[in-house]
Amino acid sequence: MKVFYDERMLEHKQDYFHPEKKERLERSKEVLDENGIKTYRPREFDEEIFKKVHDEEYLDFLKKFRGYLTPDTIVRENTYEIVKISAFCSLSVGETLLKGENAFALNRPPGHHACRKNGGGFCYLNNIAIAAHYLKEKGIERVFILDWDGHHGNGTQEAFYNINWVYYLSIHQKGIYPFTGYEHETGEGEGKGFNRNIPVPYGIGDKDYLKIFDKIVLKEIENYKPDLILISAGQDSHRNDPLVGLNLSTECYGTFIKKIRDYTVGAVLEGGYDLNSLAYSNLEIIREMSI
Ligand SMILES: [Zn+2]
Repeated sequence: MKVFYDERMLEHKQDYFHPEKKERLERSKEVLDENGIKTYRPREFDEEIFKKVHDEEYLDFLKKFRGYLTPDTIVRENTYEIVKISAFCSLSVGETLLKGENAFALNRPPGHHACRKNGGGFCYLNNIAIAAHYLKEKGIERVFILDWDGHHGNGTQEAFYNINWVYYLSIHQKGIYPFTGYEHETGEGEGKGFNRNIPVPYGIGDKDYLKIFDKIVLKEIENYKPDLILISAGQDSHRNDPLVGLNLSTECYGTFIKKIRDYTVGAVLEGGYDLNSLAYSNLEIIREMSI
């Protein structure tokens, strides 16, 4: 089990009072240190792999543009250099999985709202989609992406909507940003049947989530028979999160991991905005992934 982290990602700044702030990683790293969990710096990868997920025009734009991509997502002088490191963390997770070892990316900015031609929702590069493409290049044939962030991963859905070598499943709160992720969105063409959205109502917690997990998630994983599982681990579905109205406990994230223990699992951080809840949920996930 390896955790990837790089302190250069602390230099990424949104506006003042923005919830996606460096303290999210700082606090989490502190809790990992206190618990004796070692982190590794990601290595650098060839940026060509980004083009599998994003248009070249968008990548060039990100390098040159300064200002607001969307009202909640700013591009500064150093943004591209830092989002690259966040993607390298995700790619390092992919590389570790190839050895049959679990891995976790403690990275920011997050990625699952980043689409082919645009970013937004605090996201610039779709870290998990980039990792899935990397795994495919390395010979992995079937990737299951489980996205339990409280928001729908519109960028990840878009990236794999027409293909069947990724099964994308998202559980998210109904009716909140990015206002996508309906049940009828099930994929197109070859991808038909390989995209599943489970929008859930405000306020539901462990009991309902575990029911969904047992009845739908585990069944879909078993049917799909993936070579490995990637998780868009957004711990903003936690009960203390200020942005999302879901009610998961810290322990529930560990229970999710226990249930998929037969697989090689790579988790990439997405949201999670209550500093302590995020830090301890990450710890819980990492501990369960280490067993
Ligand atoms: Zn989120």
